[in-house]
Amino acid sequence: MTIQGYAALEAKAPLEAFAYEENGLGAYDADIEISHCGVCHSDLHLLDGDWGRLSQYPLIAGHEIIGTIKAVGSAADANLVGKRVGVGWQRGSCLTCEWCLSGQEELCSDHVGTCVGNYGGFAERVILDSRFAHVIPDGLASDNAAPLLCAGITVFSPLMRYANSRSRVGVIGIGGLGHLALQYANKMGCHVTAFSSSDAKKDEAMALGAHHYINGSDADAMKKARRSCDLIIATAPANLDWGQYVRALRPNGTLCFVGIPNKPISVYAGQLQDNLQVVGSSIGGRYAMQQMLEFSARHDIVAWTEQLPMDSVNTALDRLRDNDVRYRFVLEK
Ligand code: NAP
Ligand code: ZN
Repeated sequence: MTIQGYAALEAKAPLEAFAYEENGLGAYDADIEISHCGVCHSDLHLLDGDWGRLSQYPLIAGHEIIGTIKAVGSAADANLVGKRVGVGWQRGSCLTCEWCLSGQEELCSDHVGTCVGNYGGFAERVILDSRFAHVIPDGLASDNAAPLLCAGITVFSPLMRYANSRSRVGVIGIGGLGHLALQYANKMGCHVTAFSSSDAKKDEAMALGAHHYINGSDADAMKKARRSCDLIIATAPANLDWGQYVRALRPNGTLCFVGIPNKPISVYAGQLQDNLQVVGSSIGGRYAMQQMLEFSARHDIVAWTEQLPMDSVNTALDRLRDNDVRYRFVLEK
Protein backbone atom coordinates (compact mmCIF):
# COMPACT_ATOMS: atom_id res chain seq x y z
CA MET A 1 0.00 0.00 0.00
CA THR A 2 1.33 3.48 -0.90
CA ILE A 3 0.82 6.25 1.69
CA GLN A 4 1.12 9.93 0.80
CA GLY A 5 2.44 12.41 3.34
CA TYR A 6 4.66 15.45 3.84
CA ALA A 7 8.28 14.84 4.76
CA ALA A 8 11.44 16.80 5.48
CA LEU A 9 14.35 15.30 3.55
CA GLU A 10 16.93 16.88 5.88
CA ALA A 11 17.07 18.98 9.06
CA LYS A 12 15.27 22.34 8.79
CA ALA A 13 14.18 21.69 5.18
CA PRO A 14 10.62 22.65 4.24
CA LEU A 15 8.32 19.64 4.02
CA GLU A 16 7.48 18.28 0.61
CA ALA A 17 5.06 15.69 -0.76
CA PHE A 18 6.46 12.24 -0.11
CA ALA A 19 5.10 8.71 -0.62
CA TYR A 20 6.11 5.51 1.14
CA GLU A 21 5.13 1.86 1.00
CA GLU A 22 3.56 -0.21 3.79
CA ASN A 23 3.53 -4.00 3.59
CA GLY A 24 0.04 -4.63 4.96
CA LEU A 25 -1.12 -5.04 8.55
CA GLY A 26 0.71 -6.80 11.38
CA ALA A 27 -1.41 -8.92 13.74
CA TYR A 28 -2.29 -6.04 16.12
CA ASP A 29 -2.13 -3.21 13.59
CA ALA A 30 -4.81 -0.76 12.61
CA ASP A 31 -5.03 1.08 9.31
CA ILE A 32 -6.10 4.60 10.24
CA GLU A 33 -7.41 7.11 7.71
CA ILE A 34 -6.27 10.44 9.14
CA SER A 35 -8.75 13.33 9.28
CA HIS A 36 -6.81 15.71 11.58
CA CYS A 37 -3.31 16.12 12.96
CA GLY A 38 -2.16 18.78 15.43
CA VAL A 39 1.21 20.50 15.07
CA CYS A 40 3.18 20.21 18.32
CA HIS A 41 6.40 22.03 19.15
CA SER A 42 8.04 18.59 19.44
CA ASP A 43 7.42 18.20 15.68
CA LEU A 44 9.52 21.34 15.20
CA HIS A 45 12.29 20.01 17.47
CA LEU A 46 12.31 16.74 15.49
CA LEU A 47 12.22 18.39 12.06
CA ASP A 48 15.00 20.79 13.06
CA GLY A 49 17.18 17.94 14.31
CA ASP A 50 17.29 19.39 17.86
CA TRP A 51 17.21 15.93 19.42
CA GLY A 52 20.06 14.30 17.44
CA ARG A 53 19.47 10.68 16.49
CA LEU A 54 15.71 10.85 17.17
CA SER A 55 15.36 12.52 13.76
CA GLN A 56 15.60 10.17 10.80
CA TYR A 57 15.05 11.62 7.35
CA PRO A 58 12.92 11.50 5.29
CA LEU A 59 10.88 12.51 8.35
CA ILE A 60 7.10 12.63 8.39
CA ALA A 61 6.30 14.27 11.73
CA GLY A 62 2.84 14.58 13.34
CA HIS A 63 1.72 12.87 16.53
CA GLU A 64 -1.63 14.42 17.45
CA ILE A 65 -3.60 12.22 15.09
CA ILE A 66 -7.33 11.67 14.79
CA GLY A 67 -8.75 9.36 12.18
CA THR A 68 -11.00 6.42 11.46
CA ILE A 69 -9.91 2.80 11.59
CA LYS A 70 -10.49 1.21 8.21
CA ALA A 71 -9.10 -2.27 8.90
CA VAL A 72 -7.30 -4.21 11.63
CA GLY A 73 -4.90 -7.15 11.75
CA SER A 74 -5.83 -10.73 12.65
CA ALA A 75 -5.23 -10.41 16.42
CA ALA A 76 -6.64 -6.90 16.92
CA ASP A 77 -10.15 -6.11 18.22
CA ALA A 78 -12.36 -6.30 15.13
CA ASN A 79 -14.88 -3.96 16.82
CA LEU A 80 -12.40 -1.13 16.29
CA VAL A 81 -13.15 -1.01 12.56
CA GLY A 82 -15.12 2.18 11.87
CA LYS A 83 -14.18 3.76 15.23
CA ARG A 84 -12.83 7.30 15.52
CA VAL A 85 -9.50 7.07 17.32
CA GLY A 86 -6.58 9.24 18.35
CA VAL A 87 -2.87 8.53 18.52
CA GLY A 88 -0.31 10.58 20.42
CA TRP A 89 3.48 10.57 20.74
CA GLN A 90 3.65 6.82 21.50
CA ARG A 91 2.63 4.05 19.12
CA GLY A 92 4.07 1.01 20.88
CA SER A 93 5.78 -0.59 23.88
CA CYS A 94 6.62 -4.12 25.05
CA LEU A 95 3.36 -4.37 27.09
CA THR A 96 5.04 -6.90 29.44
CA CYS A 97 7.60 -4.99 31.58
CA GLU A 98 6.86 -3.58 35.04
CA TRP A 99 6.17 -0.13 33.60
CA CYS A 100 3.74 -1.36 30.97
CA LEU A 101 1.97 -3.65 33.43
CA SER A 102 1.49 -0.75 35.84
CA GLY A 103 -0.05 1.46 33.16
CA GLN A 104 3.06 3.57 32.62
CA GLU A 105 3.80 2.47 29.06
CA GLU A 106 5.47 5.82 28.42
CA LEU A 107 8.34 4.64 30.67
CA CYS A 108 8.94 1.36 28.80
CA SER A 109 12.48 1.02 27.47
CA ASP A 110 10.99 -0.37 24.24
CA HIS A 111 8.81 2.74 23.82
CA VAL A 112 8.06 3.27 20.11
CA GLY A 113 7.52 6.86 19.01
CA THR A 114 4.76 7.65 16.52
CA CYS A 115 7.10 9.71 14.34
CA VAL A 116 10.50 8.65 15.69
CA GLY A 117 11.95 6.11 13.26
CA ASN A 118 8.41 5.77 11.89
CA TYR A 119 6.32 7.84 9.53
CA GLY A 120 3.82 9.96 11.47
CA GLY A 121 0.60 11.87 11.06
CA PHE A 122 1.28 14.57 8.47
CA ALA A 123 -0.10 12.05 5.99
CA GLU A 124 -3.32 10.62 4.58
CA ARG A 125 -3.13 7.47 6.70
CA VAL A 126 -0.94 5.58 9.15
CA ILE A 127 -0.60 1.93 10.11
CA LEU A 128 0.30 1.24 13.74
CA ASP A 129 -0.44 -0.89 16.80
CA SER A 130 -4.20 -0.70 17.47
CA ARG A 131 -3.51 -0.93 21.22
CA PHE A 132 -2.14 2.62 21.07
CA ALA A 133 -5.16 3.96 19.17
CA HIS A 134 -7.48 5.59 21.72
CA VAL A 135 -11.20 5.77 21.05
CA ILE A 136 -12.32 9.42 21.10
CA PRO A 137 -15.45 10.13 23.18
CA ASP A 138 -18.41 11.29 21.07
CA GLY A 139 -18.62 14.65 22.83
CA LEU A 140 -15.25 15.80 21.50
CA ALA A 141 -15.02 17.32 18.01
CA SER A 142 -11.98 16.08 16.08
CA ASP A 143 -10.66 19.47 15.05
CA ASN A 144 -10.08 20.63 18.60
CA ALA A 145 -9.56 17.25 20.24
CA ALA A 146 -6.49 16.27 18.18
CA PRO A 147 -4.13 18.35 20.40
CA LEU A 148 -5.32 16.49 23.49
CA LEU A 149 -3.45 13.40 22.25
CA CYS A 150 -0.05 14.95 23.00
CA ALA A 151 -0.37 18.45 24.49
CA GLY A 152 -3.36 17.42 26.62
CA ILE A 153 -1.94 14.24 28.14
CA THR A 154 1.44 15.89 28.76
CA VAL A 155 -0.03 18.50 31.11
CA PHE A 156 -2.82 16.30 32.50
CA SER A 157 -0.26 13.75 33.83
CA PRO A 158 1.69 16.06 36.19
CA LEU A 159 -1.56 17.65 37.37
CA MET A 160 -2.86 14.19 38.32
CA ARG A 161 0.45 13.36 40.00
CA TYR A 162 1.17 16.57 41.93
CA ALA A 163 -2.02 18.64 42.25
CA ASN A 164 -5.32 18.44 44.07
CA SER A 165 -8.29 20.76 44.35
CA ARG A 166 -6.54 22.87 47.01
CA SER A 167 -3.37 23.35 44.97
CA ARG A 168 -2.07 26.62 43.61
CA VAL A 169 -0.84 25.81 40.12
CA GLY A 170 1.32 27.94 37.83
CA VAL A 171 1.81 27.36 34.12
CA ILE A 172 4.83 28.82 32.28
CA GLY A 173 4.28 29.35 28.54
CA ILE A 174 0.75 29.73 27.23
CA GLY A 175 1.07 27.81 23.98
CA GLY A 176 -0.26 24.44 22.86
CA LEU A 177 0.49 22.68 26.14
CA GLY A 178 0.06 25.69 28.39
CA HIS A 179 -3.43 26.73 27.23
CA LEU A 180 -4.68 23.20 27.96
CA ALA A 181 -2.92 23.15 31.35
CA LEU A 182 -4.85 26.29 32.37
CA GLN A 183 -8.13 24.58 31.48
CA TYR A 184 -7.36 21.29 33.25
CA ALA A 185 -6.04 22.96 36.41
CA ASN A 186 -9.11 25.21 36.59
CA LYS A 187 -11.53 22.30 36.17
CA MET A 188 -9.62 20.29 38.79
CA GLY A 189 -10.46 23.08 41.23
CA CYS A 190 -6.97 24.57 41.52
CA HIS A 191 -6.07 28.24 41.84
CA VAL A 192 -4.36 28.94 38.52
CA THR A 193 -1.62 31.41 37.57
CA ALA A 194 -0.47 31.90 33.98
CA PHE A 195 3.17 32.96 33.52
CA SER A 196 3.63 34.31 30.01
CA SER A 197 6.55 36.09 28.33
CA SER A 198 4.48 39.21 27.51
CA ASP A 199 1.19 40.90 28.40
CA ALA A 200 -0.38 39.86 25.09
CA LYS A 201 -2.21 36.72 26.18
CA LYS A 202 -3.76 38.07 29.40
CA ASP A 203 -7.44 38.21 28.39
CA GLU A 204 -7.31 34.83 26.70
CA ALA A 205 -5.46 33.22 29.61
CA MET A 206 -8.18 34.42 31.97
CA ALA A 207 -10.85 33.08 29.61
CA LEU A 208 -9.03 29.74 29.55
CA GLY A 209 -9.24 29.47 33.34
CA ALA A 210 -6.36 31.44 34.87
CA HIS A 211 -7.23 33.39 38.02
CA HIS A 212 -4.06 35.39 37.86
CA TYR A 213 -1.69 36.44 35.03
CA ILE A 214 1.96 37.34 35.37
CA ASN A 215 4.33 38.62 32.71
CA GLY A 216 7.43 36.59 33.53
CA SER A 217 9.73 39.26 32.14
CA ASP A 218 8.42 41.81 34.69
CA ALA A 219 10.87 41.52 37.60
CA ASP A 220 8.58 43.34 40.06
CA ALA A 221 5.64 41.09 39.24
CA MET A 222 7.86 38.02 39.68
CA LYS A 223 8.99 39.32 43.08
CA LYS A 224 5.36 39.61 44.15
CA ALA A 225 4.79 36.03 42.97
CA ARG A 226 7.31 34.55 45.42
CA ARG A 227 6.03 31.59 47.45
CA SER A 228 2.73 31.52 45.54
CA CYS A 229 2.49 28.11 43.79
CA ASP A 230 2.48 24.48 44.94
CA LEU A 231 3.11 23.22 41.42
CA ILE A 232 4.52 25.01 38.42
CA ILE A 233 4.40 23.29 35.05
CA ALA A 234 7.06 24.67 32.72
CA THR A 235 6.05 24.28 29.07
CA ALA A 236 8.19 27.00 27.40
CA PRO A 237 10.92 25.58 25.15
CA ALA A 238 13.09 28.54 26.19
CA ASN A 239 16.05 29.15 28.49
CA LEU A 240 14.37 31.19 31.20
CA ASP A 241 15.63 32.34 34.61
CA TRP A 242 14.51 29.18 36.41
CA GLY A 243 15.64 30.54 39.78
CA GLN A 244 12.82 33.04 39.77
CA TYR A 245 10.31 30.23 39.22
CA VAL A 246 11.84 28.18 42.05
CA ARG A 247 11.33 31.27 44.23
CA ALA A 248 7.68 31.29 43.13
CA LEU A 249 7.16 27.87 44.76
CA ARG A 250 5.56 27.46 48.17
CA PRO A 251 7.27 25.08 50.63
CA ASN A 252 6.98 21.45 49.48
CA GLY A 253 6.37 22.75 45.97
CA THR A 254 7.28 21.18 42.63
CA LEU A 255 8.65 22.72 39.45
CA CYS A 256 7.82 20.23 36.70
CA PHE A 257 9.46 20.47 33.28
CA VAL A 258 7.47 19.22 30.33
CA GLY A 259 8.87 21.74 27.85
CA ILE A 260 12.38 21.04 26.65
CA PRO A 261 14.72 24.06 26.57
CA ASN A 262 17.89 23.48 24.53
CA LYS A 263 20.25 24.27 27.45
CA PRO A 264 20.62 22.52 30.81
CA ILE A 265 18.43 23.97 33.54
CA SER A 266 20.41 25.63 36.29
CA VAL A 267 19.10 26.00 39.82
CA TYR A 268 21.03 26.89 43.00
CA ALA A 269 20.62 23.98 45.44
CA GLY A 270 20.28 26.35 48.41
CA GLN A 271 16.98 27.55 46.91
CA LEU A 272 15.50 24.06 47.16
CA GLN A 273 15.73 23.79 50.93
CA ASP A 274 12.03 24.26 51.65
CA ASN A 275 11.48 20.67 50.47
CA LEU A 276 11.24 21.82 46.89
CA GLN A 277 11.61 19.48 43.96
CA VAL A 278 12.48 19.98 40.32
CA VAL A 279 11.14 17.14 38.18
CA GLY A 280 10.38 16.14 34.60
CA SER A 281 7.39 14.41 33.05
CA SER A 282 6.48 13.03 29.67
CA ILE A 283 3.12 12.21 28.07
CA GLY A 284 1.20 9.44 29.92
CA GLY A 285 0.29 5.78 29.59
CA ARG A 286 -2.77 4.24 27.98
CA TYR A 287 -4.92 4.39 31.12
CA ALA A 288 -3.99 8.03 31.74
CA MET A 289 -4.89 8.72 28.12
CA GLN A 290 -8.37 7.27 28.67
CA GLN A 291 -8.83 9.27 31.89
CA MET A 292 -7.68 12.45 30.14
CA LEU A 293 -10.10 11.98 27.24
CA GLU A 294 -13.01 11.27 29.60
CA PHE A 295 -12.15 14.26 31.78
CA SER A 296 -11.88 16.47 28.69
CA ALA A 297 -15.28 15.36 27.37
CA ARG A 298 -16.95 15.81 30.78
CA HIS A 299 -15.53 19.29 31.35
CA ASP A 300 -15.64 20.56 27.75
CA ILE A 301 -11.88 20.92 27.56
CA VAL A 302 -10.87 21.54 23.99
CA ALA A 303 -7.88 23.06 22.30
CA TRP A 304 -8.33 26.49 20.77
CA THR A 305 -7.24 25.76 17.25
CA GLU A 306 -6.60 27.27 13.88
CA GLN A 307 -7.26 24.78 11.11
CA LEU A 308 -5.29 24.57 7.91
CA PRO A 309 -5.35 22.07 5.05
CA MET A 310 -2.62 19.44 5.31
CA ASP A 311 -0.77 20.92 2.32
CA SER A 312 -0.24 24.15 4.33
CA VAL A 313 1.90 22.31 6.86
CA ASN A 314 4.91 24.57 6.17
CA THR A 315 2.86 27.68 7.00
CA ALA A 316 1.84 26.08 10.30
CA LEU A 317 5.44 25.18 11.17
CA ASP A 318 6.78 28.65 10.31
CA ARG A 319 4.12 30.40 12.37
CA LEU A 320 4.56 28.02 15.30
CA ARG A 321 8.27 28.82 15.25
CA ASP A 322 7.35 32.52 15.54
CA ASN A 323 4.96 31.91 18.49
CA ASP A 324 2.20 33.07 16.13
CA VAL A 325 -0.64 30.68 16.90
CA ARG A 326 -3.57 30.85 19.31
CA TYR A 327 -3.11 28.10 20.42
CA ARG A 328 -2.63 25.09 18.16
CA PHE A 329 -2.56 24.45 14.45
CA VAL A 330 -4.54 21.43 13.39
CA LEU A 331 -4.05 20.15 9.86
CA GLU A 332 -7.15 18.80 8.15
CA LYS A 333 -7.44 16.19 5.46
P1 NAP B 1 4.19 26.08 21.76
O1 NAP B 1 2.81 25.87 21.30
O2 NAP B 1 5.19 26.70 20.86
O3 NAP B 1 4.11 26.88 23.15
C1 NAP B 1 5.24 27.19 23.89
C2 NAP B 1 5.00 28.51 24.62
O4 NAP B 1 6.19 28.79 25.37
C3 NAP B 1 4.79 29.70 23.71
O5 NAP B 1 3.46 29.88 23.32
C4 NAP B 1 5.28 30.83 24.58
O6 NAP B 1 4.27 31.17 25.53
C5 NAP B 1 6.42 30.19 25.36
N1 NAP B 1 7.69 30.47 24.68
C6 NAP B 1 8.11 30.04 23.48
N2 NAP B 1 9.32 30.55 23.18
C7 NAP B 1 9.65 31.29 24.20
C8 NAP B 1 10.77 32.09 24.48
N3 NAP B 1 11.79 32.17 23.62
N4 NAP B 1 10.80 32.74 25.66
C9 NAP B 1 9.79 32.62 26.52
N5 NAP B 1 8.69 31.88 26.30
C10 NAP B 1 8.63 31.24 25.15
O7 NAP B 1 4.87 24.68 22.19
P2 NAP B 1 4.15 23.36 22.78
O8 NAP B 1 3.67 22.53 21.65
O9 NAP B 1 3.23 23.78 23.85
O10 NAP B 1 5.42 22.59 23.37
C11 NAP B 1 6.17 23.18 24.42
C12 NAP B 1 7.36 22.31 24.77
O11 NAP B 1 6.92 21.10 25.33
C13 NAP B 1 8.28 21.91 23.62
O12 NAP B 1 9.63 21.92 24.07
C14 NAP B 1 7.86 20.48 23.32
O13 NAP B 1 8.87 19.73 22.70
C15 NAP B 1 7.59 20.00 24.71
N6 NAP B 1 6.73 18.83 24.81
C16 NAP B 1 7.07 17.90 25.74
C17 NAP B 1 6.28 16.80 25.92
C18 NAP B 1 6.61 15.81 26.98
O14 NAP B 1 6.11 14.69 26.95
N7 NAP B 1 7.41 16.19 27.97
C19 NAP B 1 5.13 16.62 25.13
C20 NAP B 1 4.81 17.60 24.21
C21 NAP B 1 5.61 18.71 24.05
P3 NAP B 1 4.07 32.69 26.05
O15 NAP B 1 3.75 33.50 24.83
O16 NAP B 1 2.96 32.56 27.02
O17 NAP B 1 5.37 33.07 26.68
ZN1 ZN C 1 3.81 16.60 21.06
